[in-house]
Amino acid sequence: MSKSKILVVGGTGYIGKRIVNASLAQGHPTYVLMRREIGFDIEKVQMLLSFKEQGARLVEGSFSDHHSLVDAVKQVDVVICAMSGVQFRSHNILLQLKLVDAIKEAGNIKRFLPSEFGIDPARMGHALEPGKETFGDKMIVRKAIEEAEIPYTYISANCFGGYFVVVFMDEDDVATYTVKTVDDTRMLNKTLYLRPQENILTHNQLVEKWEKLTHKKFEKVYISAQDFLASMKDLDNALQAGYARIYHIYYDGCTMNFDIGEWGGEASELYPEVRYTRVHEYLQRYL
Ligand code: NDP
Repeated sequence: MSKSKILVVGGTGYIGKRIVNASLAQGHPTYVLMRREIGFDIEKVQMLLSFKEQGARLVEGSFSDHHSLVDAVKQVDVVICAMSGVQFRSHNILLQLKLVDAIKEAGNIKRFLPSEFGIDPARMGHALEPGKETFGDKMIVRKAIEEAEIPYTYISANCFGGYFVVVFMDEDDVATYTVKTVDDTRMLNKTLYLRPQENILTHNQLVEKWEKLTHKKFEKVYISAQDFLASMKDLDNALQAGYARIYHIYYDGCTMNFDIGEWGGEASELYPEVRYTRVHEYLQRYL
């Protein structure tokens, strides 16, 4: 079977650039949306040119021009969107509704991976304010995809863990697993969860590893959930949203407190051929 043609939207971003690289490395004909609005942003232009040198095709388009998006989408089989979505950086997740419209009109896309790459929003109905809107926006996009009957895969790329358990993911591995799903029928209309066994650590285990690597002992302060929540109240909105996210990950356990079951699959079990970066290797970079 020939490899699907992939269009990456948001290809110059933090996750997006890794997805472009993973798509090229896995031998997919790779297309990258080159937005007109980037203008003379020299860093983006240079990055796009380096993708081109590696064999990617640059496709011009704009979110303000529906036809350009339809034309871009018509050139490929799969669309992976990696637009920014962190609420205190910018509000772009809902712009994806324009992409959903274009994919619906083009009618040729066999898989769409919207910009997710975080905690599963379907499990965050109880999320604290502020910060809840990111999950809400991602659910609005999911609803539009499912109503338009566009085949999809959602990527839940846990960053940290829950119940004092941390799931570590190297960003390049997130990209590798993401691209792995596009021609995999097991992941059609499912969620891929990134929870590789060897990268799940308790918070104490993590601190212990870091102490060993740095030959230092750290002073530990234990904070109850109640005190942690109380400490948020005088912070500005952006910081409160950050604290709320930490609360859900560490105290609420939102990335680990459920079985995957029929929702989808776990990345390292589905793709054992990928040698994912272990925590101690990741930590070495910070020495
Ligand atoms: P970035 O902030 O790096 O931005 C990604 C891209 O979005 C940009 O490079 C740009 O792409 C595009 N973009 C920005 N503004 C606009 C706009 N107005 N119109 C159209 N496109 C725009 O995003 P991240 O990589 O940090 O985030 C991607 C996803 O990953 C999000 O859903 C986020 O929630 C998730 N995430 C998860 C993390 C985790 O730890 N699990 C951590 C960080 C993010 P271009 O200029 O190339 O077109």
